[in-house]
Amino acid sequence: MPPASKKKKSTREYIWIYGCPTLKEGCFEFHPNVQEHIEKSFNRGKKMCQIYVFGDTWDLDLVQMIKTKKDDHDKYQIKRIIPSKAKKYHIQGISEAYYKKMEGFRQTDNICNICLYPPSIPTRIQDCGHEFCFACLKSNYMMGLECPTCRGRIPPELFRDPKRYDLPIDIECPVEYANDCTSMFALTEEGKCSANSSVQLRRSQRSTRTKYYWIYQATDYGWYRYDPKNEKYLEESYIRKKSSCTIFICGFKMSINLKSNVQERISEGEVHRRKIKRIKAGDLKNHRVRGISGIQSYAYPVISE
Ligand SMILES: [Zn+2]
Ligand SMILES: [Zn+2]
Repeated sequence: MPPASKKKKSTREYIWIYGCPTLKEGCFEFHPNVQEHIEKSFNRGKKMCQIYVFGDTWDLDLVQMIKTKKDDHDKYQIKRIIPSKAKKYHIQGISEAYYKKMEGFRQTDNICNICLYPPSIPTRIQDCGHEFCFACLKSNYMMGLECPTCRGRIPPELFRDPKRYDLPIDIECPVEYANDCTSMFALTEEGKCSANSSVQLRRSQRSTRTKYYWIYQATDYGWYRYDPKNEKYLEESYIRKKSSCTIFICGFKMSINLKSNVQERISEGEVHRRKIKRIKAGDLKNHRVRGISGIQSYAYPVISE
């Protein structure tokens, strides 16, 4: 995936960074989605501005140069620097996601060797350079497997509280998968499907031009958007008025109740339930969405007049 943020970075006159909590103790660039907002607020002489990052709203004090979070006393130093001075600060990454090292082998074919589709949420193993869907690689990791291409090690860090700065919240499902998913549903319907209901379906599909996302409740707080492939499957089931369906997430079988909006996983006799929701893409900001598929990645400027 082309790192869009990198291109932007080079054209930026200033970079906004923050410390943990002081700059000396380690620092990160602010998320690319909020850099411009902070810079504009600063240039307009605003004393404060707000940003939303990974589920939290932050207040930036542009006079005292600190950032704070509601109900939290900790203050984090912030600073506006010119890119040529960045080296001086030992910046570790962007928005608590460490910089990606892109040296070494780079996979040129755009296929996940696990599902054989173009990767959904492309995820690269740094050591060997092989790239897979985030969910495909995670399921292999959970099963104790190695890199399916070269048998190299899959680093656990990839799945430990993952954060990414290059994962737009509106990423699409790979077209190849989306098409296969739709035809598979159509195929199982053939025969039992009367002309009448297929007209109904076409109608309902037409009326769902509005983009919808499927989100699930995180274990601690907030919500995550489903991986686009699972989301596509949920949406296909939903528009066909199915009351339930089954999806696999990282090797686990999840039963989805599309009437009561609950995801259930049964493991060792215990039932783990999560709330799920189908929301309009435009309503994303009304939910505390932290990212996609358990990866914290969603950030945007909070605009208030
Ligand atoms: Zn895959
Ligand atoms: Zn490999």
